[in-house]
Amino acid sequence: MTIKILLSSFLIFAFISCNKDSEEIEPNSEVHWDYESQATWSTLALPDNQCAGLIQTPINIESSNTIKSMLPELGLNYSSFPINIIDNGHTIQINNKGTSSLKYNKQEYALSQFHFHSHSEHTIDGKSARMEIHFVHKSSTDGSLLVIGVLVEEGGAANASIASYIDSFPTVIEKESSLLKTINPLDLFPASKKYYNYTGSLTTPPCSQGLNWIVLKDKLKISAEQISKFEAKYNHNFRPVLPVGSRTIFESI
Ligand SMILES: [Zn+2]
Repeated sequence: MTIKILLSSFLIFAFISCNKDSEEIEPNSEVHWDYESQATWSTLALPDNQCAGLIQTPINIESSNTIKSMLPELGLNYSSFPINIIDNGHTIQINNKGTSSLKYNKQEYALSQFHFHSHSEHTIDGKSARMEIHFVHKSSTDGSLLVIGVLVEEGGAANASIASYIDSFPTVIEKESSLLKTINPLDLFPASKKYYNYTGSLTTPPCSQGLNWIVLKDKLKISAEQISKFEAKYNHNFRPVLPVGSRTIFESI
């Protein structure tokens, strides 16, 4: 009898605990944020919110204040994959369900997705670029994130990769659509893969820190028309630069 009561109590307790957990998780996933209220990002009720931290992204890269050295090459093992595109309410994002990956400093990272900011989040010597593309990678061993930032400026021909989806942006938020086309993200990289490297954070809440950031030194050039089409969709989805503090910025030579 006693055992029965204890067991029932345990089950009731487990049920309540379970409910409590889901209540705690559910509202967090619905925490609303936008680019107009960045001053309050650090107060958002998100687990482990680090938006007020000291190693945040983006930053201004002062090219005269970097440590120039032989840095590891970017092993961009990208291949063509079908376009799965989503408007998540903050940016246009292409999800990778293929095998594209990055080998960097003897570690393997899977390419999760890439997305666009307008104008750029990073600045170089105080200057922003018209756009910035973020290629988000996740380590297959420890789950750590490595993001490659490519700054974009106007000039010349339309980019073939962007042409595949620029007229197919989703009309509904948070609904992924699959296009009957493939792209290779390598087409969104400039010829030179020299880069800056530093430790930073996600640039959106919860601004989690400890990300390995690689920002290419050269910019990608795309057509004025393509930039305008992105700007017509998202024209202010960037976080302003934050203090570099005591961080070192490395630069590949
Ligand atoms: Zn981003």
